[in-house]
Amino acid sequence: ILHVSHLKKSFDDVAVLKDISFDLNAGEVLSIIGPSGSGKSTLLRCLTQLETFEAGEVCIDGKDMVIPGVKTKNGVKYAPAKTLREIRLSTGLVFQNFNLFPHLTVLQNLTLAPIRVLEKNREEARDLARELLKRMGLENKEKAYPCELSGGQQQRVSIARALAMNPKILFFDEPTSALDPELTGEVLKIIKGLTELQMTMVIVTHEMAFARDVADKVLFMDGGVIVEQGTPEYVFGKSENDRLNAFLSRFA
Ligand code: ATP
Ligand code: MG
Repeated sequence: ILHVSHLKKSFDDVAVLKDISFDLNAGEVLSIIGPSGSGKSTLLRCLTQLETFEAGEVCIDGKDMVIPGVKTKNGVKYAPAKTLREIRLSTGLVFQNFNLFPHLTVLQNLTLAPIRVLEKNREEARDLARELLKRMGLENKEKAYPCELSGGQQQRVSIARALAMNPKILFFDEPTSALDPELTGEVLKIIKGLTELQMTMVIVTHEMAFARDVADKVLFMDGGVIVEQGTPEYVFGKSENDRLNAFLSRFA
């Protein structure tokens, strides 16, 4: 469902992603780990179209983000706007800092995009929002404003908001790193719960036990390259890679 090959991205002249390639099947969960500055967020931002990239190919749910094999002087040639929009709608991104609309209630946060972008009617959007809030354990919070919620509750709302768009792939960029330790567990439990629905997910996280537990596949990035990738057992266990072992020893 996600195919990335030879993706490259630089800011000015600094290469931040150098030849990234990996695949993910529908229903699988990928954890991405790696030190600060290794390019994890930039990779997610390229895949969710918040950043452009200069080289490589990305195919999401059978649609190519760039025209394969065609190069321009700026790098790749992107697919037509209509295709890019379809691809964008098939992905969702949950940020570290929740990014909820502060002036809207929880329910309004969940129904805004389904109504405006997917052109759902108000009742349908509201029913789905309520169902998602229930799954997040927030059924009594629909009239609250984000500032009235704990960080963990806000993050559960933002996960519900992403799910309300019915994405094919859900990306998470350090979904718990802005939370107090006692609130981290509730958010991780929700994400873990989504695996039972066969949700395809890509999760950047510093929670190593979680990364290992939830994933079908793990990528270890360092310095803009994928240093190791494989099953959780392989990446967290048998690898003989020095950079990976040095990184993991910091969490031991
Ligand atoms: P962290 O674990 O701290 O979130 P990360 O792996 O997500 O790190 P990125 O945020 O992807 O790392 O950053 C990778 C590199 O790209 C860093 O050296 C960063 O300084 C640089 N970078 C990121 N965004 C920009 C930008 N908009 N302009 C210039 N450089 C950037
Ligand atoms: Mg980051």
